[in-house]
Amino acid sequence: MQHDIVVVGAGVSGLVTADRLTTQGYDVVVLEARDRVGGRTHTVPVPDHPEYRIDVGGQWVGPDQRALLAELDRFGLTTHDQDDGRDALVSLRGSLRRYRGDTPKIGAVALADVGQALWRFDRLCARVDLDAPWATPDAVRLDAQTFETWIRRNLRTSQGRDFFRIGCEAVFATTSANLSLLHALFYSRSGTSFSHLLTTGGGAQHAVVDGGMAQLAEHLAAGLGDRVRLSSPVTAVEHGPGGVVVRTGADVVRARRTVVTVPPALVAGIAFAPPLPPVRDAVQRRMPHGSVIKCHAVYPTPFWREDGLSGEAAGDTGPVKVVFDATPPARSGAGPDDASPPGILVAFIEGADALEAAAWTLEQRKNAVVRVLAGYVGDRALSPTSFNEQDWTAEEWTRGCYGAHLPPGAWTQVGRALREPVGVVHWAGTETATRWCGYIDGAISSGERAAREVAALLPEA
Ligand SMILES: Cc1cc2nc3c(=O)[nH]c(=O)nc-3n(C[C@H](O)[C@H](O)[C@H](O)COP(=O)(O)OP(=O)(O)OC[C@H]3O[C@@H](n4cnc5c(N)ncnc54)[C@H](O)[C@@H]3O)c2cc1C
Repeated sequence: MQHDIVVVGAGVSGLVTADRLTTQGYDVVVLEARDRVGGRTHTVPVPDHPEYRIDVGGQWVGPDQRALLAELDRFGLTTHDQDDGRDALVSLRGSLRRYRGDTPKIGAVALADVGQALWRFDRLCARVDLDAPWATPDAVRLDAQTFETWIRRNLRTSQGRDFFRIGCEAVFATTSANLSLLHALFYSRSGTSFSHLLTTGGGAQHAVVDGGMAQLAEHLAAGLGDRVRLSSPVTAVEHGPGGVVVRTGADVVRARRTVVTVPPALVAGIAFAPPLPPVRDAVQRRMPHGSVIKCHAVYPTPFWREDGLSGEAAGDTGPVKVVFDATPPARSGAGPDDASPPGILVAFIEGADALEAAAWTLEQRKNAVVRVLAGYVGDRALSPTSFNEQDWTAEEWTRGCYGAHLPPGAWTQVGRALREPVGVVHWAGTETATRWCGYIDGAISSGERAAREVAALLPEA
């Protein structure tokens, strides 16, 4: 054998898998298709302000994402809070309202409707078995309906239903009609609760890494050195009791075991010999990603703050449903120019809107985005000094985000194959996580779990 383990993919989960196994003395190689590490985390310089950086991929860390916080701490990476205490905006059915705190101002009746629905949803969530969603009491019935069916049955006001539908797009980047109810419940519980996933201060959007989230992958990769091979897309895996032979366009790597960390839908693009068992093949074919175009509009200053606005907004007018302030903090200890970083709004085009907008020209998308922004923070938003976008659905080695979702029937029929090794082939990646599935924290814990799984089966290094 050339190596002990070959890891496929150098996203956060693959790098953590390799990091933990290398620390135990195993000989590991990581094969990554892209010419960079980080996968769905990616940080780039702000156009015309290269001293500042923006996250075009995964960005936020929550206060209860312990695996991610520990990893950030390990590399001395600091964060700043997203919530600045100013007013957020919500726009539903033509009515634009300001609010402060976690509860959008949507009218007393609709608010009561949302409150009772969240309570019912949380009660259902509490029953979900995170390790085995298919073993949840009443799993078949919960998995036989969509999240949309549940919304229609459990909310009485149109504004309340809109709140849940926009929330669903913000979390899953797809419409509620595409999701199994059991999946919506599993995913929400895995990240604490549906409302926690929607929350800024104290929730999933609590804080942003100073200088960008991609530094995490860069630090992990630096520790692994030349064990990480970039521009090495894996095309084929031959596997059997004697080990694995993993082929890229230019390379053949032999190892005792492999950990595949690419998103499940992309595993179908790798030729396995012998072919994967039908149940494994079925689960990965039934796990599409959501669709997101993440857009950053850059302005000379964060002018909306002068009006007491935080830049956070959500609404039902497409193509953008969710907006946040992505202005970087002033660089401490830097020169006088750095005291005023550019103002940046980040706008998410999600779900069906993203698939439709992908066919437009960049100019059309930019105009559509800044028009929505102007509806929230005023006409100054119409003239950004620059505009940056990242269409994750078009990315060959991701094909959508934020994570994968399961349609009705998938968890109960084939979900059990998601983490189960196939001989010497093991699986990691955020989609295999039981806590913070779909998030960076889940990517880390999945890598740690896969490393433990493999180490337990290999002779001690
Ligand atoms: C726009 C956006 C916003 C997000 N926001 C947040 C957020 O705020 N907070 C949060 O926690 N999470 C967020 N996420 C989700 C988070 O980024 C992911 O959950 C996490 O990065 C997934 O890591 P992973 O290692 O499991 O998968 P990936 O990052 O997808 O890594 C898989 C790797 O495999 C590589 N690969 C694919 N195919 C092959 C092949 N055939 N051969 C070799 N390599 C291959 C890919 O290039 C990639 O590097 C966001 C994601 C996106 C895209």
